[in-house]
Amino acid sequence: MVVIRSAHEYYREGLTSRERFTVAHELAHCFVETQFGFKPTSNAEYWRLEEICNGFAAALLAPRRVVDEALCSNPVDAVDLLCAIQELRRRTKLSFAAASRRIIEALQLPATIACLAFASHSRRTSAQLRWVCENRSWIGGGRNRRMSSHPFLAPLAAAEALLVGQVRRFELNSDVRSACVLRGSEDDFYLIALLESSRLPIGQAIASAATARAR
Ligand SMILES: [Zn+2]
Repeated sequence: MVVIRSAHEYYREGLTSRERFTVAHELAHCFVETQFGFKPTSNAEYWRLEEICNGFAAALLAPRRVVDEALCSNPVDAVDLLCAIQELRRRTKLSFAAASRRIIEALQLPATIACLAFASHSRRTSAQLRWVCENRSWIGGGRNRRMSSHPFLAPLAAAEALLVGQVRRFELNSDVRSACVLRGSEDDFYLIALLESSRLPIGQAIASAATARAR
């Protein structure tokens, strides 16, 4: 059931972006339940369904044509990619996470977008992964995973000097074509990295080496 609220003074501006997303997300639940009769029976299924409903909501609020327009063409560097995310957010009012997800789905280049927080204020050498979306594994999944050994940790620690809303480019290893970090809030940092497309992910590299040997 979808309830449309009356044109009360308070709601003249329409729904907030969070409310819009929630309505779209709940629509997905309705759809899954009525069309497929699916109800999750385990924690894993519950979280998988939540992911699917979030994906549906993001696709509904940011159709592919709008995503393609925000992307224009393939970004030249990580700051371009960040601009595309911000443009999509401006047009659709999606959160940074949902906009990143839509952009990554449409992007022709290997890339990673992640939101990180320092794991503790006393030790800047480890970070907590709030979320990650990538079309080629570089950071890897795991919500709230604590990370203490990844090449981006040193530049991330240096980004602590940034003010909220500031962006800094940084150099990483040869896996990364271009990277930047945006300070999203006092605690959150967004890491945006375009990866080298000539470098295959480890699994694929092993497979192609095996194929080459077999020839
Ligand atoms: Zn839900």
